[in-house]
Amino acid sequence: MEQNVRKTVVIGSGCSGLTAALYTARAKLKPLVLEGHEPGGQLSLTTLVENFPGFPEGIQGPELVNNIRVQAERFGAEYLMADLMEADLSEYPFRLTLAGKGAILAESLIVASGASARWLGLPSEQALIGHGVSSCATCDGFFFSGREIAVIGGGDSAMEEANFLTRFASKVTVIHRRDEFRASKIMLDRARANPKIEFLTDTVVDDVYDVSKNEVTGLRLRNTKTGNSWDFPVSAMFLGIGHIPNSRMFEGQLETDADGYLVTERNVFTKIPGVFACGDVQDRRYRQAITAAGTGCMAAMEVEKFLEDRGE
Ligand code: NAP
Repeated sequence: MEQNVRKTVVIGSGCSGLTAALYTARAKLKPLVLEGHEPGGQLSLTTLVENFPGFPEGIQGPELVNNIRVQAERFGAEYLMADLMEADLSEYPFRLTLAGKGAILAESLIVASGASARWLGLPSEQALIGHGVSSCATCDGFFFSGREIAVIGGGDSAMEEANFLTRFASKVTVIHRRDEFRASKIMLDRARANPKIEFLTDTVVDDVYDVSKNEVTGLRLRNTKTGNSWDFPVSAMFLGIGHIPNSRMFEGQLETDADGYLVTERNVFTKIPGVFACGDVQDRRYRQAITAAGTGCMAAMEVEKFLEDRGE
């Protein structure tokens, strides 16, 4: 693929990347979209999206993102299932090394690599991922029908997960490290009104049982105010504690803030001409599907302008 110089490459296939693909495809730039290890991004892991304009009854996240994918494909967007290992932005065209699939050269780059679920980082939690520890209620909730489940976090994701999991679980306990919530009032009220949901505040998880059985049987919890610890039996632990931007492959080349979000100016410009960033990898404030789509559109329009100014 070495000789293959693309006019534009989009890294990431979430709402932002696919919107960028749609716009650049309609501008006849034949974008290549690198789908990454979470195709469809966070929307593909969610259920009903009620706040994306244009869908009065809401739309399922996977359906929404697939619609944008098909829409972009109709105008010539191409997709490649590949993970970006390394990007060399010091030479032009930019060189992208893909895991097991050689290298591609790109005249312009749209970084829409999104963000991935955050974990607590406990060794027992990591050992039990896929065996009762999950960051995706939509994917794994079904496996815990009739069981008691813990959801960790105090934001909208945790509330959404907790509500969704009551479809399956006999009881859901939201465990939050503070007694104030980051979640929006409507989401918090909905969770509080759900008779299957209970809350444990000022509480952290110190350990997940039972690695030796290869399944979750309970949690070791601690009250941060009293210091008291106790065992709490559950069959699953779902994480809803936010996300980490996927920017590591640009370390040392694109500027990031202290938490790893790509720093942009004028919405989508990075310091390197021809490299634009959009969506959750550069947005720590709004992080909505509609804002991700919006910045994807901006990045695409700037790519058009950049290539036009170069006379291409
Ligand atoms: P978030 O708002 O950043 O909330 C993360 C939560 O996890 C916070 O309560 C935080 O506690 C907690 N947390 C973080 N690290 C932790 C750790 N190591 N141990 C224990 N707890 C930890 O993230 P989010 O809920 O994923 O939401 C992200 C954005 O998406 C928000 O803008 C949200 O509104 C949006 N969203 C919207 C919807 C919807 O409207 N349908 C659904 C999901 C998400 P502290 O509060 O103590 O920091």
